[in-house]
Amino acid sequence: MADVESASSSSTVVQQPSPTSTSHNMSPIIPLIAAELQSDPQSSVASVQIQQSSSSSSMNVSSGGRSSSDSGTSSTSAGGNRMDICSEPEMKKIKLDHGGGVGLGLHGGGNIPTGAGRAQREEKLESRLGGILCCAVCLDLPKTAMYQCQMGHLMCAACFTHLLADGRLRDQVATCPNCRVEISKSNASRNLAVEKAVSELPSECQYCCVEFPYKSLERHETYECQERPTHCKYHRIGCQWKGPNHETTAHEANCLHPHKSGYEVMAALEAYDSKLKEERKMYSTLIELLSYEKIIFNDLQFKPYRTDEFATKLFYETTRFSAFNHQWVVKARINNSQRDPHQSNDRQITYQLILKSKTNSPMSIHFFALKGPFSDMKVGTQIYKHDFTEQNTESEYYVLPLPDSSECNRLLSNKGINFRLLMFLLNK
Ligand SMILES: [Zn+2]
Ligand SMILES: [Zn+2]
Ligand SMILES: [Zn+2]
Ligand SMILES: [Zn+2]
Repeated sequence: MADVESASSSSTVVQQPSPTSTSHNMSPIIPLIAAELQSDPQSSVASVQIQQSSSSSSMNVSSGGRSSSDSGTSSTSAGGNRMDICSEPEMKKIKLDHGGGVGLGLHGGGNIPTGAGRAQREEKLESRLGGILCCAVCLDLPKTAMYQCQMGHLMCAACFTHLLADGRLRDQVATCPNCRVEISKSNASRNLAVEKAVSELPSECQYCCVEFPYKSLERHETYECQERPTHCKYHRIGCQWKGPNHETTAHEANCLHPHKSGYEVMAALEAYDSKLKEERKMYSTLIELLSYEKIIFNDLQFKPYRTDEFATKLFYETTRFSAFNHQWVVKARINNSQRDPHQSNDRQITYQLILKSKTNSPMSIHFFALKGPFSDMKVGTQIYKHDFTEQNTESEYYVLPLPDSSECNRLLSNKGINFRLLMFLLNK
């Protein structure tokens, strides 16, 4: 769990003078950004109150370390919703798109025609074990956590969270696909013995076809395999060559790109630059925003709700919170309220900032959601802007930039989704 106690960094930065307004919550943000850039959860700082009740008018930040009991309890309750699911469930594949992938010949091991008796028996055992230890839903051997229902049926973390998310989207209890017993985070459990057994099973490298224990396969395929596909080191000046790692030295010795003129490699460099420029633009926008007079962040939680409009439809909403002397709410929905999101494998969350109190003067607000201290959500940074006026109190729905659908499923399988919302108000 992300620890909020990085007292040293917080206390040094936090107590800056805030001459005029109460909403000068500038200081905690600096280490926050630093934390984002280093993606180091340890350095997140200020203690923040999750707005629990709608009547709560307390401002979000009490700078300077974790102080009140309030923030303490909210941090635990928020943390309580998090689960030990593997931090990186694999991209959920379309069901049954497996079998060939694992290299163990999960169910076909018995038909191997030749081989000395002993080797054959061993191979049979391994493939039999593979068939027994695989996920009952996707038949894959997971590299991550393995869960089981009360009757002992195995489900990989990705399938487990997918089932929970489906249950939530349909407003039904999730059930084990094998025995229909109810599954939830409280009545399903990890099966560490299976996880360890799977990690010891031999598995074939997809490039060199040599067998390695499952647990070391990823390292082998990423860093060690001589056959792994590798780019020429002159890739950035336009060489498109990509080949097995052991051929790169020979290729690079003869590669023509280092001998091209500056004029000839300009196009490649420009393409490369424009990609970097995009990224840099985001950071400079962020730095620009950080010099605004009024900045506030709130640590919030999306709670699931349903409407009865058509079919029951899932959406998420935070409790009201205050910022810039106004009341706000954030709403979120799945696949932009597609009719039956549970029938689609592609999932996406979009969110909307809503002004709940009356305003006489227009407010130009930049905002974006980030992980915050109580969440392990893998969210990118995308800054949005909306001009709030008396008539226009709701922003559009903007994408919560998640890496893929499986991360979305993982969030949907939680009781709530914790996040931090940063808001910047431009004074006109
Ligand atoms: Zn699975
Ligand atoms: Zn079961
Ligand atoms: Zn290999
Ligand atoms: Zn080359």
